[in-house]
Amino acid sequence: MVYLSESKSKKGLVFEIQKMSTEDGPGIRTTVFMKHCPLKCVWCHNPESIPKKPLLEWLSHKCIGCKTCVETCKQGALKFTEEGLLINREKCISCGECVEECPSTALHMFGKEWDLEDLFHEVDKDRVYYAKSGGGVTISGGEPTLQSEFVYEFLRKCKDNGINTALDTCGYARKEIYEKLLPYVDLILLDIKEIDSEKHKEFTGVSNEKILENAKWLAKYAQQHDKKLWIRTPLIPNYTATEENIEGIGKFIVNELDNIPERWDLLTFNNLCADKYERLDLEWDLAGVPLMKEKEILHLYEIAKKTGVKNVQWSGLTKSEKIDESSKLDNIKLPSC
Ligand code: SF4
Ligand code: SF4
Repeated sequence: MVYLSESKSKKGLVFEIQKMSTEDGPGIRTTVFMKHCPLKCVWCHNPESIPKKPLLEWLSHKCIGCKTCVETCKQGALKFTEEGLLINREKCISCGECVEECPSTALHMFGKEWDLEDLFHEVDKDRVYYAKSGGGVTISGGEPTLQSEFVYEFLRKCKDNGINTALDTCGYARKEIYEKLLPYVDLILLDIKEIDSEKHKEFTGVSNEKILENAKWLAKYAQQHDKKLWIRTPLIPNYTATEENIEGIGKFIVNELDNIPERWDLLTFNNLCADKYERLDLEWDLAGVPLMKEKEILHLYEIAKKTGVKNVQWSGLTKSEKIDESSKLDNIKLPSC
């Protein structure tokens, strides 16, 4: 298995392929998550997506302590201690040899190179579900426009073969890239996370001017070219889940985007990724933050509706879920936004 090769022709670095997704556009979809992101949101639910190179994780509960991995690594990046396997991420070159040699699948690499044809074949397997449900393929991330050459070829291949496509973007890309990709996109999923530019920079690492300008351009493009546009906003306690922010984004959609977006999705915060941060040796500022209460979400939802946006939706876990959450986890998408 190739995790990272020298050749870059028609290969894309993908960190996950999620089948049967119902959260990334209409119908049943396959979502392809591309690696690398220009933003660094403090709440990111997919921290493995941010770096450009594949990331190794160690699953302690599967490890039998044989140390084959330590012997395999030519870079000397692995060391077995009393606390378990230590990964020196400066030395690791993501070759994946330790993953291949581990006898108990206790090592996993986030990120794998895919050939265009292989990736298309993979998503094409679920064509019957797309046809029956009005679904298709969503290309997400990370930020898919950072691998625009590969994404362009992939979207074109899907459209040439009659598969509905959606592009999930943070909006932080050059217009020329959108101009190239959008002829092969049916639905644009655009994140608007925070309306205040300074806060946006504090929360994500970049200011929002470019994103809001792109939002205006994308709305016009969608209207003129008969594409669909959905806006998505993550509701993060102490960050984006404020009355001021929701009202501000709602007014922006109505006044600056001429209410063109077909819908506005409010995606509630979840803390299911906390252990993933641990496995990747990363700190997460939101590790102890609880889920939002349903009444808090409904309050923001009502504010969103009052702004006049024509179709507001919300989804995700809440603190007051009455159903068994463990049965819901298999089906829930962790929004990366
Ligand atoms: S090769 Fe796998 S099972 Fe053996 S020590 Fe390394 S991680 Fe654990
Ligand atoms: S991926 Fe390669 S370089 Fe990194 S720890 Fe494993 S064997 Fe060593």
